[in-house]
Amino acid sequence: MKITVVGTGYVGLVTGTCFAETGNDVTCVDIDANKVKKLSAGQITIYEPGLEKLFERNLKEERLFFTTSLEEGIKDAEVIFLALPTPPGADGAADLSFVLNVATHLGKIMTDYKVIVDKSTVPVGTAEKVTAAIAAHCTTPFDVVSNPEFLREGVAVDDFMKPDRVVIGTMSERARKVMGELYAPFVRQGNPILFMDEKSAELTKYAANSFLATKISFMNEIAVLCEKLGADVDMVRRGIGSDDRIGKRFLFPGIGYGGSCFPKDVQALVKSSEDAAYDFKILNAVMDVNEKQKLFLLPKIKGFFNDDLKGKHFALWGLAFKPNTDDIREAPALYIIEALLAEGATVSVFDPEAMSNVKQVLGDKIIYAEHQYNCLENADALIIATEWSVFRTPDFNRISSSLKHRAIFDGRNLFEVTRMKELGYHYESVGRMPAI
Ligand code: NAD
Repeated sequence: MKITVVGTGYVGLVTGTCFAETGNDVTCVDIDANKVKKLSAGQITIYEPGLEKLFERNLKEERLFFTTSLEEGIKDAEVIFLALPTPPGADGAADLSFVLNVATHLGKIMTDYKVIVDKSTVPVGTAEKVTAAIAAHCTTPFDVVSNPEFLREGVAVDDFMKPDRVVIGTMSERARKVMGELYAPFVRQGNPILFMDEKSAELTKYAANSFLATKISFMNEIAVLCEKLGADVDMVRRGIGSDDRIGKRFLFPGIGYGGSCFPKDVQALVKSSEDAAYDFKILNAVMDVNEKQKLFLLPKIKGFFNDDLKGKHFALWGLAFKPNTDDIREAPALYIIEALLAEGATVSVFDPEAMSNVKQVLGDKIIYAEHQYNCLENADALIIATEWSVFRTPDFNRISSSLKHRAIFDGRNLFEVTRMKELGYHYESVGRMPAI
């Protein structure tokens, strides 16, 4: 099939590359000329495990192309995916301007039947709006389908190639057939393609992300309570996770969810609820809890330094909002850094993949270390904000010989409390009794 993907970011580049991998001819369109130039020259623009190999192969075999021109990009396309940003607007609602502007443009240039697919995360009713935006300028037949994406950054290629399910919202038989054919190679193991109406598909994505965010905030509150009552969240986590109805996954407490999806999607669903005159109480609480959780470590750090961080220097490991990605959107680490700077402290940071993205945001406000151990030089204490594997079994001798104090504040519960006690650390984590 000939496919166009409009928007070549985390979702668009993975979508385009994976569709090319199953034999389709894919053209990716992006307004960022620099990005298109790099991708056309074989230079990948995001860090995503496993993506580079597929990208190189499909570029070489001429199944994957990049352009800034929408006209050129959609010329022979049967299916056009919109993988465009839907950031939160001032009122918290998803900003649909990227999606609707492209839809209007498509309406002006389409000359034959096409299936236009909303892959962006969009509120209920967007398929109707996209249809209207295209139809305002176009008399050729077309269908708009809602096909939300569930990939997780860090394992995006696996998620796309072997999805738990594919959700396709359309009431058009013609579009249903095209989409079913396109996705057939991805569900050979028997995972379902769930066909439904457009609105249900749109809401499914928000419901999924909001449920997961709720799970995280719930466990973060249990962790807070564990500390207050003297319980251990790891025990409680195991205790509840063995119940099939709860499940073991996604029960790890930490310093809040971040990224480009959970924060904005929860906020957008709350706004959609408000617009429908419904007060979604749980989700408001989920957002409140998460806001507080991002700075969960701060009082612990301040407590250790007698409430005075002025002139103190901190090493911080982990900047990405989660491991195996270079994405720093809404990353808890950034909130911690800003809070430390506001207290008069200085910060050295290290992350295996996200350093250059942070440099673009924070510039010379902080120090960028070349290695996780250089990062510790002259630091009063170590803070851990992302659970990269490389931080899990560090050389504690190197850590203690570099730090001024044997103090680690761990927002991801990487180490055993008893071990840290044996090693003589002041070790504070989330929901477990500190080793002091
Ligand atoms: P992104 O910011 O990484 O990528 C968006 C791309 O669209 C950018 O490259 C940008 O230059 C391009 N763009 C903007 N305007 C354009 C235009 N007019 N024409 C062509 N290109 C244009 O965003 P993303 O993370 O890939 O997210 C895209 C959508 O997918 C969002 O709605 C998001 O909520 C959803 N989503 C994201 C993830 C994720 O993990 N990142 C997962 C599932 C769903």
